[in-house]
Amino acid sequence: RLMVVRDVTRLQHLEQMRRDFVANVSHELRTPLTVLVGYLETLLDADDGSQPRRQRALQQMQQQAERMQELLRDLLLLSRLESGNETQQQEVFDVSSGLQGLAQDARALSAERGHQIDLKISGNTLLHGSQAELQSAFSNLLFNAVKYTQNGGRIEMRWWQDEQGGHFEVSDNGPGIEERHLPRLTERFYRVDPSRNSATGGTGLGLAIVKHVLLRHDGNLEIHSTLGKGSRFSCHFPAQRLAQAPGTY
Ligand code: ADP
Repeated sequence: RLMVVRDVTRLQHLEQMRRDFVANVSHELRTPLTVLVGYLETLLDADDGSQPRRQRALQQMQQQAERMQELLRDLLLLSRLESGNETQQQEVFDVSSGLQGLAQDARALSAERGHQIDLKISGNTLLHGSQAELQSAFSNLLFNAVKYTQNGGRIEMRWWQDEQGGHFEVSDNGPGIEERHLPRLTERFYRVDPSRNSATGGTGLGLAIVKHVLLRHDGNLEIHSTLGKGSRFSCHFPAQRLAQAPGTY
């Protein structure tokens, strides 16, 4: 028999340093960026359009600065999720009303791109957990489907319950993802096709956020996708995470 003992103190320490570093940098960059965005807005408001090149430069600076703000917001959210010292067991998230709100937001996001967005809900829809985190995870999956599915495509959101627990699923008939990318999709900044992404925006952190939120709720993420046919992202929550609706017991 062989027993292997490994001291992981140093590894854990380095991991903690990495987390703190990312959180601190993101936090420190927020204020200077807010100032830049503020002045750019003032400059653009005062612009009379007499110098189109200057106006275009200002617009591009504003776009990129807003993108940086989005990145910082997602990085800060990720480091909060990773630090893991919030408790969310007491709060109850009403999946049904949350998803109805999200469906409306997705239709507004799709707008003239004309996606068909359907929602199907059944079973117990009350889930123990942080409303803000779960809403953020579900919206990341749904908005990705809107972003990546071709105009007029079909998107379906589903919530159901069985003896294993509660399940949330977003499926689309979009471009799909090659199998070799699937295991790496939830890594930070991992993109399937960087050129496709520059057109759709996004920070590359969405699925990493989804993974962390699910981890904090004892759930897991399952991804199925076929190139050219579409993708399906499923979130599974264990039965003990389901809360009984008042009056049903
Ligand atoms: P991003 O901000 O780039 O959307 P995500 O972490 O949310 O970052 O997603 C990672 C990558 O997974 C995306 O860049 C995209 O290539 C791919 N992806 C995510 N959802 C879908 C989808 N519904 N259909 C096709 N590709 C998707």
